[in-house]
Amino acid sequence: MDKAEDIILKTKQKYEFFGINKIREISRLIYEISKRDNTDFNTIVNEIKSDDYLCVKTFLLKKRYPKTFNKVSKDSFYLPELNIEEQNRAVLTEPKFNPKNVYYTKDVINSFLYNRIKSLYSNANFVEIESLKSFLKTNGFSIQKYNNRKENLFLVNEKYDFFKPCPCTKNVRCCNYSILNIGYGCLYECSYCFLQGYQNVAGIILPCNLPDFLNTDKIKPTDNKMFFLPRVGSGEFTDSLIFDDVTLFSNDIVKFFKENKNISFEFKTKSTNINNLLKLGGKENIVISWSVNAEQMIEENEHCTPKLPERLKAAQECIKAGYSVGFHFDPIILYDNWKQGYKQTIDMIFDFIDGKYIKWISIGTLRMVSTLKKVIENRFVDNTILDEELLLSYDGKLRYETSLRVQVYKYMFERIKSKDKTVPVYLCMENNDIWNSIK
Ligand code: SF4
Ligand code: SF4
Repeated sequence: MDKAEDIILKTKQKYEFFGINKIREISRLIYEISKRDNTDFNTIVNEIKSDDYLCVKTFLLKKRYPKTFNKVSKDSFYLPELNIEEQNRAVLTEPKFNPKNVYYTKDVINSFLYNRIKSLYSNANFVEIESLKSFLKTNGFSIQKYNNRKENLFLVNEKYDFFKPCPCTKNVRCCNYSILNIGYGCLYECSYCFLQGYQNVAGIILPCNLPDFLNTDKIKPTDNKMFFLPRVGSGEFTDSLIFDDVTLFSNDIVKFFKENKNISFEFKTKSTNINNLLKLGGKENIVISWSVNAEQMIEENEHCTPKLPERLKAAQECIKAGYSVGFHFDPIILYDNWKQGYKQTIDMIFDFIDGKYIKWISIGTLRMVSTLKKVIENRFVDNTILDEELLLSYDGKLRYETSLRVQVYKYMFERIKSKDKTVPVYLCMENNDIWNSIK
């Protein structure tokens, strides 16, 4: 295949009479076909019979979107400018946390976490800042800076966003989940991670005042009859456990939810950082849940994370220590052998874990805000997740076409239920029509 910049150049030369926007669309389509099929510019354009813009675009769209071209409206195809820079590539290294710089606000210096960080990372450069907002004003953000985020730790007192309803998305069936925000940023490198397009801080942010928020006046989840208890969880803007050996947040969280058994609390993770949880011992309402995937997808996309058997062994240990567990098939990624790959993961879960300990399994197909596409192709140039046909949906997100999603959900739902009928299975971010079509 040709490099992105070569494709742009060759498109401009071949179609010199096209304007900027047309060049943008055509070079984007040629790049995506060339990458997916491992072919080059000339092989693709030599097949096109005419140089008329509409003919060229129609030919390329049909080739790029063979399954959906005739099924969906033409504005479903998202064709942003092609702009891939080598220096934006993700740095795939061991997810070991050893920050060079610790930025802190004055109000945290008496906190447990600040003093623990001082003793754990005594060689780091400690810098007082007025506020995160003021720091961001004077320090720009870029993908390259994001790639080095593990070098910077921010310690702040969280004022507003500790506990809130899950933001979910428009026009979907919301499961009334609530979020306890225990940090921002992650050391893993999942190719599909939404944080890489959402986060505007090149560092990890940890709150120093978590204990202030662990009280029943502040933690007020909404009920949902589908689950055994109203649900609160962490893991929206970070992996819930990846920093737990550093923060020891689980000390306060487990203590609080052991005393408040009418609420379930979920630690959502891909990590095996469970030593502190094991020491503390669990209760049924405290659910440790793992994001899982087909093993090929873990290998190709969840860079620097523990493998599937390691995650499942950690789940077994948590059950022995008194916790419940959950699993999230999210995102489900379409690839050649997806049925076989996801079946094997479902089989493996039930080989390791007795279904009576599983409080829920969620399933959600790959989706993303459209702007994330450019970030992914810059950071993970060789990714294959963008090769499938992702279409612009009603809410501006890219998703697989509806009938494909329904096919995936039916398959997953049936496979899981064939293992254990009693385990609650729910869809994340899907509308009522899709929910109804899988039952
Ligand atoms: S469906 Fe998913 S995104 Fe929506 S509230 Fe529940 S967990 Fe959050
Ligand atoms: S584990 Fe979650 S938060 Fe961390 S990189 Fe992967 S998707 Fe992002």
